[in-house]
Amino acid sequence: MFVDSHCHIDGAEYDADRDDVINRARDTGVTTMLNVGTGDPHSDAFERAVELAEKHTDIYAAVGVHPHDAKLFDGRAEQRLLDLAKQSRRVIAWGEIGLDYHYDHSPRDVQREVFGRQLRLARSLNLPVIVHSREADDDTIAILREALADYERGGVLHCFGGSLEMATSAIDLGFFISFAGNLTFKKPEDLRSIARQLPLDRLLIETDCPYLTPVPFRGKRNEPARVVETAQCLAELHGKELEEVGHITGENFGKLFRVATR
Ligand SMILES: [Zn+2]
Ligand SMILES: [Zn+2]
Repeated sequence: MFVDSHCHIDGAEYDADRDDVINRARDTGVTTMLNVGTGDPHSDAFERAVELAEKHTDIYAAVGVHPHDAKLFDGRAEQRLLDLAKQSRRVIAWGEIGLDYHYDHSPRDVQREVFGRQLRLARSLNLPVIVHSREADDDTIAILREALADYERGGVLHCFGGSLEMATSAIDLGFFISFAGNLTFKKPEDLRSIARQLPLDRLLIETDCPYLTPVPFRGKRNEPARVVETAQCLAELHGKELEEVGHITGENFGKLFRVATR
């Protein structure tokens, strides 16, 4: 059993063969997928993500405005996402939200403000959060500490690429750490060393597809079935069997999001 804790299969990249992609994931042993809505909150991007989850019992949804789109966040966007999260039981998390200082598609002060605001929204709904943080370790942890210090639902740092210190600070806040296909890339030896030092009972795996296709499929469009490659890499790092890592990360997902994973 494997769980893809973060994918974007509602996007146009899959319009031609979405059902095949979903069936390939099932055939590979992926029992659960969390489809994270993203895009312009004034478009129908998030409705699309929730609709997909409503249609399949093994696909859940998350809603939240990505730091890239923080400049588009306003009261109307907030209400639209709140309504979606309240109306559908398939919405099990708020995200992805956070800070991206690599691309800076939105001004940093706006990113920080919108991140904090959405953490408070997640709390008001009692949902765990999915956090995207790139080249913003210190600010991300500071904002999480301020907003979620005593919050029991916690969340996940997705597609982890930060420092060991950041990972342990997040775990102290009750967070899980999720690794994507970049764990398998040739270069990030330091990322693998961090993954080796973190306790398996705080780890999740994801594809973040269509991005970050793992070795040996790099360069192709990614899809949930490929989460197995990341599980395999993690298994080697921890000296465990593939099935065991699939099982543990699946159980972790169930604990964090409070859903059955098989
Ligand atoms: Zn992300
Ligand atoms: Zn993502």
